[in-house]
Order: sequence, then C-alpha cells, then structure tokens
Amino acid sequence: AQVVQAEFVKSSVRTEDCPSDGLPEFALVGRSNVGKSSLLNSLVRRKRLALTSKKPGKTQCINHFRINDSWYLVDLPGYGYASAPQELRTDWGKFTKNYFINRSTLVSVFLLIDASIPAKKIDLEYASWLGQNQVPMTLIFTKCDKRKKKKNGGKRPEENVKDFQELICGFFQTVPPWIMTSSVTNQGRDEILLHMAQLRNY
Ligand code: GDP
Repeated sequence: AQVVQAEFVKSSVRTEDCPSDGLPEFALVGRSNVGKSSLLNSLVRRKRLALTSKKPGKTQCINHFRINDSWYLVDLPGYGYASAPQELRTDWGKFTKNYFINRSTLVSVFLLIDASIPAKKIDLEYASWLGQNQVPMTLIFTKCDKRKKKKNGGKRPEENVKDFQELICGFFQTVPPWIMTSSVTNQGRDEILLHMAQLRNY
C-alpha cells in the first residue's frame, strides 16, 4: 500500500471542474492548523508536495494529487479560520458540502482532528454534518506525539481521542473508523495507506 508516485494534478474551484477519469479518491479536511499539509507530505514521503496547495489562491480550492497513477488524495480548504469573515466561512461550507454530496468518486472523507487539544465545537459540528448526510468518513487524529499541557486542557492525546469519540457517538449508526497519527514520528502512516487500499478494494 506504499506510495511510489505522487503528482499534483490540478486545483479546482467547483466540483464539476475536478478530474473526470473516475479514479477513486480520499479527501483530507480539517480545521486550519490541524496538521493537514504535514500529514499529506508524510503520506507521500515528500517535504514540499502540499506546498502547491498552500500558494495564495489555492488554499480555497479542491486540490487533486494522483497517487501511483491509480487514485487521488484530495486536499480541501481548511475550515475555522478565526480571522475569516463570516461570509467566507459560509462560502466555504457551501463549496465543500457540494463536493461531499456530489463527488461520486469520493470513497471516504478523512476528517482530521487535533488530538493534542480538547474537542472543538466546530469539529463536532463538522463530524455531525458528515454523519447526518451519510458521507463515509474516517477520523484521523493528528499530533498524537504531543505531550499533555496544562494550557491545552491537561489531557493526553489518548484521552482527548476518547472524549471526542464519546461526543460524536450520537451522530452515527456505527462509530466511524479512526486512526491515531503523528507527522513527527510517522505514527499511523502505514495504517492510513492500508485503510485506503482496503476501502478501494471493496
Ligand atoms: P495545516 O494548516 O492543517 O496544513 O497544518 P500544518 O501541516 O501546516 O501544521 C500546523 C502546525 O502544526 C505546524 O506548526 C506543524 O509543524 C505542526 N504539526 C503538524 N503535524 C504535527 C504532528 O503530527 N505533531 C506535532 N507535534 N506537530 C505537528
């Protein structure tokens, strides 16, 4: 399930503009600063691949990376920018929700949650929206290498993960699959790639 080839393909503004070759895809999404670019780079073992999507103007797009010429990793805009005006956030919502509902080749959304801090309302809302709309989802807990800190609620990543799972239980018929990761130690990297391979082979 390793990545031998990774290539940036395109940035799309609308779902209709996304690649039309029918290859299966997995979308990474999460609050800004959750560690999405770091995870993307760790998955493909490159330092700078995701930088393409961090260029000004590209952060608000759907960015497709073709892997091993057979499937896509998709980098979606981060949500919850504290500084973004309400209007922008609403646009963000419409834009990504349209993608989640209408992108037929989307196999699963990988929702990134920062395990080094207590559950955030916006993440719970996001998970609940995906659950209610029956969008297939995998929870990816990031920054699991971080030690507990008083200013972050004083809990270990394992405890934050457990709290988050308990909080979202009510939104799902079955608890979504989840993987604990760190881009510093590469924890969870192989597990994610294996999980993606299994989902593609269904
Ligand atoms: P993005 O905004 O979601 O793309 O987040 P980035 O990948 O740019 O990471 C945001 C910040 O979190 C950066 O300072 C990273 O160095 C840090 N970070 C990302 N992943 C990890 C991780 O697994 N462990 C730790 N300790 N820090 C991380």
